[in-house]
Amino acid sequence: MASQTDPTWEQRWHPLREEWVLFTAHRGGRPWIGELKSPDAATVPAYDPTCALCPGNARLHGVNPPYTGTFWFPNDLPCFGPNAPSAADVCDLYRRRPAGGTAEVVCYHPDHGKTMADLTTDEVRAVVDLWTERSRELGTRPEVAHVLIFENKGSAVGTSNPHPHCQIYAGGLVYGHTAREVESSRRHFARTGEFLGQAILARELAGPRVIAANDSFVACVPWFARYAYEVLVLPRRQVSSLADLDSTERHDLAAMLREVAIRYDNLWRMPMPYVMAIHQAPTDGGDYAAFPFHVEFHPPLRTPDTLKYLAGPEIGGGSMTNESNPDEKAAELRAAAGPHYKTVAPGTRS
Ligand SMILES: [Zn+2]
Repeated sequence: MASQTDPTWEQRWHPLREEWVLFTAHRGGRPWIGELKSPDAATVPAYDPTCALCPGNARLHGVNPPYTGTFWFPNDLPCFGPNAPSAADVCDLYRRRPAGGTAEVVCYHPDHGKTMADLTTDEVRAVVDLWTERSRELGTRPEVAHVLIFENKGSAVGTSNPHPHCQIYAGGLVYGHTAREVESSRRHFARTGEFLGQAILARELAGPRVIAANDSFVACVPWFARYAYEVLVLPRRQVSSLADLDSTERHDLAAMLREVAIRYDNLWRMPMPYVMAIHQAPTDGGDYAAFPFHVEFHPPLRTPDTLKYLAGPEIGGGSMTNESNPDEKAAELRAAAGPHYKTVAPGTRS
């Protein structure tokens, strides 16, 4: 049973990306037993006059209204443009195409000092509803092949502004991981007649890596995790995009995202940095009935002060090495249940 509990010198197949992940838990050190950071170590004000996302503040192009709930606006420096020029290919090897489309910013809340973990479920629900509305609208545009929603949280992933927000990229590019998941889910369905997302869900529900679950969604550290504290949020039924979720499921997704965010913060009693990505089917008119809608959280930290560096094997070689055991990391996150540490008086949490 050693291979079940101690993935040492083991490669595991990542069924969504169809690639191998190398597990070297014997090199990752022990679980963090160091000093926990003070809950009040970093206090962020509710309003920052220099923040481009706070209500009433000026941005590069425009002024934010005095919004009280969610708020979205077109990114002032978008990576896709509505008037992208079309150019002839240089040759059949050096090809090019216009980067048409748009990019938007979604503010979760007017309070500069909050994160998803600090919001109520109803407040996160409003964010999920806005994501759904924007995805639907952007997906109907002829120049948009894919709507990618992601949140970069924390300076460790390059975000200097703590204001709770995410970004929406909607252009002619189907992002690489989604493109691979389109192919992997199609191949799996053709081979087995089952949906890949549901097949992964069944295996995770039968294993020790589920960290939280509700009527519509399950959160787990997947068996094939690429990062130590990676979390996969899977729907309990086959859906391919946000637009497929009914009202109850949108509520349950909001509750699950908040749940994951709280557990991350409670883990080390500090705001956990992460990249969150919502993987939904392309919107280019293809048949994506088998595409597995899901949300991925990729935290870059292995301990409170140790980053997972992407170096030779990852950048140079193109394959991930995970120095941890997903079963153990899931147990740590299971033990980090709410309430959020900031709402609990010091000394009262066991
Ligand atoms: Zn702000």
